[in-house]
Amino acid sequence: MDDLNRRAFLRRAGFAFAGVVGAASFAAAQQQEEEKKEDEETQEEIDYDALFAEDAGDEDTRACPQCGALMYRQGRTWTCENCGYSYVE
Ligand SMILES: [Zn+2]
Repeated sequence: MDDLNRRAFLRRAGFAFAGVVGAASFAAAQQQEEEKKEDEETQEEIDYDALFAEDAGDEDTRACPQCGALMYRQGRTWTCENCGYSYVE
C-alpha cells in the first residue's frame, strides 16, 4: 500500500466511521422517541376521570373503617361487604 492509497483508505474509513456513528446516534434518538412514546402510553392508561369520579356526587361505596374493604349504602346504613361492620350515617 503506497502513501496515497493509505490516505485514501483512511479517508474512506473515516467516512465509514462517521456513517456508523451517525446511524448509531440516529438509532439512539429513535429509541428515546420510542421510550418517550411508551411513557405517554403508560400515563394514558391511568384513568384520572375514573379516580376522581369516585369522590364526585352520590357515593355508593366507601372504605370500611374497620378493615378497609368496600362498604355499600342501603338508605342511610353503610355495611361492609367483608367484615359486616355497619353504621348509620
Ligand atoms: Zn369491614
